Amino acid sequence: MATLYKDWAADALTATEDDLIAAGHPLPDARPWVSGDWSPVLMLAGSETSVTNPGYLEGAAEAAPRVAADIERIWQGLPRRSASASTL
Ligand SMILES: Cc1cc2nc3c(=O)[nH]c(=O)nc-3n(C[C@H](O)[C@H](O)[C@H](O)COP(=O)(O)OP(=O)(O)OC[C@H]3O[C@@H](n4cnc5c(N)ncnc54)[C@H](O)[C@@H]3O)c2cc1C
Repeated sequence: MATLYKDWAADALTATEDDLIAAGHPLPDARPWVSGDWSPVLMLAGSETSVTNPGYLEGAAEAAPRVAADIERIWQGLPRRSASASTL
């Protein structure tokens, strides 16, 4: 067993000068990310779209299955659920 500490800010393949400016994580927001004509066919599954922990691994674990479930519903001919309805 070992503990590995990595300073990502010092990793040239990860951080750039832009990362020196802290932008923070997005705030949780249940509003849809896609609206209009694209909404039935374009789905965003990234962590940032999570309504619980956007920008974190936990948010990715929430967002990805939500979109997978939406895709399955579409295959089955059922309407999509909103992000808030599927996770809250
Ligand atoms: C340096 C760093 C440190 C972090 N530390 C933490 C932490 O300590 N705790 C924490 O909770 N979160 C941390 N995070 C945030 C966390 O890693 C992300 O929130 C999470 O990985 C996002 O998951 P995701 O599935 O949304 O996207 P990603 O993990 O980015 O997955 C997207 C995938 O899509 C692939 N991809 C992109 N474009 C295409 C394409 N055109 N075709 C096919 N594949 C494509 C990418 O290669 C990638 O594998 C950290 C992030 C970074 C960058």
